[in-house]
Amino acid sequence: MSTESQLRADIVEVGRRMYARGYTASNDGNISARLGPDRLVMTPKSVCKGFMTPDMMCITDLEGRKIQGDRDPSSEMLMHLEVYRQRPDVQAVVHAHPPIATGFAVAGIPLDRAVLAEVLTTLGSIPIAEYATPSTRELPEAVRKYIKAHDGMLLANHGALTVGTDLYSAYYKMETIEHFAKISLVARLLGRENLISREEVMRLQGLRDTYGIKAPAPICADEDLPQDQAACQVVQAPSSPGARLVPDVLGQPSDDGEIRLTYRELSALIEDAIRSLR
Ligand SMILES: [Zn+2]
Repeated sequence: MSTESQLRADIVEVGRRMYARGYTASNDGNISARLGPDRLVMTPKSVCKGFMTPDMMCITDLEGRKIQGDRDPSSEMLMHLEVYRQRPDVQAVVHAHPPIATGFAVAGIPLDRAVLAEVLTTLGSIPIAEYATPSTRELPEAVRKYIKAHDGMLLANHGALTVGTDLYSAYYKMETIEHFAKISLVARLLGRENLISREEVMRLQGLRDTYGIKAPAPICADEDLPQDQAACQVVQAPSSPGARLVPDVLGQPSDDGEIRLTYRELSALIEDAIRSLR
């Protein structure tokens, strides 16, 4: 676990990068990290993330009570607390409003097409959590639905959320989402997205362990079907080597024993399975 001074410095640096890259405007966005079993370091409310100093940070417990700091913690603290409660493996949470990804979130278009290998291996598909009023208890509830199976998601009509095993891994996932959104936008403007084949998607899936990627995430491959009807291969959960998430009622095995599911069926299945594993 990083020292408190290191975490404070890392949050300042991540905030500076987010602001410099236009992922936040004005006082938008928030960042936090685990300091101990019941301690978080978190950005304060109402500060520009591009101009923070280490002494501005708040220390809270996992119930959101302020332990230390001159300022109040982020107005989105409830969302951060929910992530840490649901994901004991997560050490850091980053929230921002990167404009291209947020455009997809406003349009209601999830970033769930298999088009980029690095996205498939690091994040899988990127869903959209339902709209909830920022800073209310509705937002953590919307996030809860996806956070157990996803390290990154869009927040409808709001922004994006990423998590990681340290501050930089959470931040880099935010970069990946925005980069992916940019590329997806350009491809769609050009009128064509060639999706990665099912075989290659499964190969990339197999490499996740090699890359040390723990968080399971749904991955879909092109079946020449509309995305919401696209058949998906069941994803193997890294936390249970060798085990497949076999549905009880969804999907029927084909002749070769392969089980195919729609994207929605797969998402629901994985979320249930992950919930039971944790
Ligand atoms: Zn926000």
